[in-house]
Amino acid sequence: MTDAEAPALPDASAPIDDLASELREAVTGGLTRPRAYREQQLDGLVRMLLQHTSLWEAALKADLGKSEIEAHLTEIGFVVSEARAAKRSLRRWMAPTLVPAPLALQPAVAKTIAEPLGVSLIIAPWNYPLHLALAPLVGAIAAGCAAVVKPSEVAPATSRLLAELAPAYLDPRSVRVVEGGVAETTALLAQRWDLVFYTGNATVARVVAAAAAKHLTPTVLELGGKSPVYVHRSADIPAAARRIAWGKWLNAGQTCVAPDHIRVDREVAGQLVDELRRATAEQLGDPRTSPDFARIVNARHLERLQGLLGSGTAVTGGDSDAAERYLAPTILVDVDDASPVMQQEIFGPILPVLPVDGVDGFIAAMHGREKPLALYVFARDRDAVRRVERDTSSGSMGVNVAVAQVGAASLPFGGVGESGSGAYHGKHSFDAFSHRKPVLSKPTGVDTLRVIYPPFSDWRGRLAKRILG
Ligand code: NAD
Repeated sequence: MTDAEAPALPDASAPIDDLASELREAVTGGLTRPRAYREQQLDGLVRMLLQHTSLWEAALKADLGKSEIEAHLTEIGFVVSEARAAKRSLRRWMAPTLVPAPLALQPAVAKTIAEPLGVSLIIAPWNYPLHLALAPLVGAIAAGCAAVVKPSEVAPATSRLLAELAPAYLDPRSVRVVEGGVAETTALLAQRWDLVFYTGNATVARVVAAAAAKHLTPTVLELGGKSPVYVHRSADIPAAARRIAWGKWLNAGQTCVAPDHIRVDREVAGQLVDELRRATAEQLGDPRTSPDFARIVNARHLERLQGLLGSGTAVTGGDSDAAERYLAPTILVDVDDASPVMQQEIFGPILPVLPVDGVDGFIAAMHGREKPLALYVFARDRDAVRRVERDTSSGSMGVNVAVAQVGAASLPFGGVGESGSGAYHGKHSFDAFSHRKPVLSKPTGVDTLRVIYPPFSDWRGRLAKRILG
């Protein structure tokens, strides 16, 4: 499109009262449908990230003290690769899928076609403020939806930058960024959307689901929970410790799929704690001065976490510095299942280690608890792994690995029960924002359906019963 052809763009900072209706026109009028438009928007998204990497890095540093490498690994690079993969795959994803039509309906062609759900509202949290705002947007654009993105006010630098840059890279007729907190989100939620995609905690998810229900709007809810780790006596303990430590200390434990706590077979508990201390020292040195260790998002969360330290004995860490929003990577032992640290999602760099008696003990400890977003098992014994796979339920599972399952775009990412519903990443993101419409078409030359039209004579009734029954 040349500048001369381009229509006047809407004011991206206009009031939000009726944004859903305003943007719906982009879908119903066909603007977002063509593959070329979706590809252009995905390119715009990638350019917005890559032309300003230093600004994004600075924003993520200001909000969460993220290191440059971590910002690339888990935020900027993640979204860029999701957007590029979507662009590469779009033709295939958009193609109709032919399915067999039953004999009784022949001759006929049966297929499903993916149509955009419509206008979507994407509400993001603060812990991966760029990734969790933009990875769902990749799905929305790929599926041909319009979208309003509401970044988290708790990560203000990233939210501001997104609101500033988006209008220059993404067509404001189909994508808007609205900044704000509870008041703005409430105003947005009062409108009629075709999908609400919410990432955050389960309490607010209930508010979101109730608002969406008023319009019968479907939701994708990406929530959290206490993601446990089970370390079996057969595990490679040093390798387990390195992988758990990385997954836990990443973003200072403020990761939805971070190992929340460990249950370890009693006979190897001491060895595991020693190896965890060693791995932590190897990876972070002095965490207070390490450029690779993030900060707690704000004073309120730091205070909440400090309050959890009394639930056990710190064998490493335990110290904090409010001025720097710093909390040391802390391994807690002597933790009781009834203590505060075991009652809520920790969402910070505190790692309780509880002994357990074998795989039965671990599975018993899971019963009666909410289904977590992730569950990790470290074991070389295949039966132990199979038992955990079969007898527990979680959004996703990692075997001898922590957090890394999120990086496999071929796997759907999402929760179950209290940890959420719906899933995305890769093709699953396209599906999350699409309606898979079944279409059956029949030629009219030969009317084989005649047999099921009344009046039913004896022979036609018998034939209809035979064919259909
Ligand atoms: P948050 O405080 O940033 O809130 C999330 C969003 O909800 C924000 O955009 C916020 O403005 C909005 N919000 C807050 N209160 C609201 C209200 N009363 N009404 C309407 N909107 C409201 O983030 P958070 O909830 O603290 O995020 C942390 C939680 O998110 C953890 O439980 C974590 O496990 C989970 N999480 C899940 C995933 C996932 O992909 N499944 C990813 C990251 C975080």
